[in-house]
Amino acid sequence: MTTLEERLKMLRDEGIKSIREQNHSKDLNEVRVNLLGKKGPITEALRGMKDLSAEERPKIGTLANAVRDEIQSAIELRSKELNDALIKQKLEKETIDVTLPSQPQKVGTEHILTQTISDIEEFFISLGYKVDSGFEVEEDYYNFERLNIPQDHPARDMQDTFYLSDKLLMRTQTSAQEGRDLENHDFSKGPLKVISPGVVYRRDDDDATHSHQFHQLEGLVVDKNISMADLKGTLEALCQHVFGKEREIRFRPSYFPFTEPSVEVDVSCFNCGGEGCRICKYTGWIEVLGAGLSHPKVLEMSGIDTNIYSGFAFGLGPERFAMLKYGITDIRDFYTNDVRFLEQFKGAIR
Ligand SMILES: [Zn+2]
Repeated sequence: MTTLEERLKMLRDEGIKSIREQNHSKDLNEVRVNLLGKKGPITEALRGMKDLSAEERPKIGTLANAVRDEIQSAIELRSKELNDALIKQKLEKETIDVTLPSQPQKVGTEHILTQTISDIEEFFISLGYKVDSGFEVEEDYYNFERLNIPQDHPARDMQDTFYLSDKLLMRTQTSAQEGRDLENHDFSKGPLKVISPGVVYRRDDDDATHSHQFHQLEGLVVDKNISMADLKGTLEALCQHVFGKEREIRFRPSYFPFTEPSVEVDVSCFNCGGEGCRICKYTGWIEVLGAGLSHPKVLEMSGIDTNIYSGFAFGLGPERFAMLKYGITDIRDFYTNDVRFLEQFKGAIR
């Protein structure tokens, strides 16, 4: 037995003993580097190979490889043992107490404005109306001119808005959809009955009752022999659907450029039933929307023969409906997404 052979066997026995004694992966890695590295004792011992005889060299070479393999295997085994122990320790520490009460699952709700609009949509769909939301970016032509509001009309002052170019603007009213619906409708297939819900824009101060962006819902019906009686019946049914079966409505004369005659619509107070209270300002009536018979000019601009056809239109504010019905005092509450506000209306309508 040569000295080199003995040295290799000794290095192997001591190395494996040292590996078995390590209790941390980091220390084990240090032992590995020390034993098997380029400056380690095995590499060092093999420098003596050059002094060996030709018969001994392959024998020692084979032994050296075997020693490396054994040390490598011992390291792998110890590494696995240390890992397993670590996992076991973690599992013991992280025991889950299945008897703890669970975290409550938060379930969202439809926004009260969405509920209000969907409810009104469903009401009109049940009367055979179609829903056509139109475009938030609209042409000046449809937003104003087609509604009998020419360039120099004073009604434009109340609806100053955000212009994207001379001819394009953020629509100020969902009535802007009227012209498009009128020219696209084929009257040989029956009457036009449409509602247009959506967002509209005005250059306005933001306060408790005004916002530069809010919702409207426009309604338009055009057919033969449409009269104020049809308008009144429709709006009374709507108000009874939204504010309660006992509700009555009344018309007061008003002015809109695209309806003639025009009316403001009041509903009998749902809070006091007409006796007078804070909500109805002690009048027994609450103003809810504007309406009227379609102005002949508006129909004629779409090539409709006003000797045969007539129509009515109305426009309501979903925010106003919801504010009245639920006693909401600040319009900004709809848009600031305060969960404490929103969750009060869970399932309010739908
Ligand atoms: Zn009242």
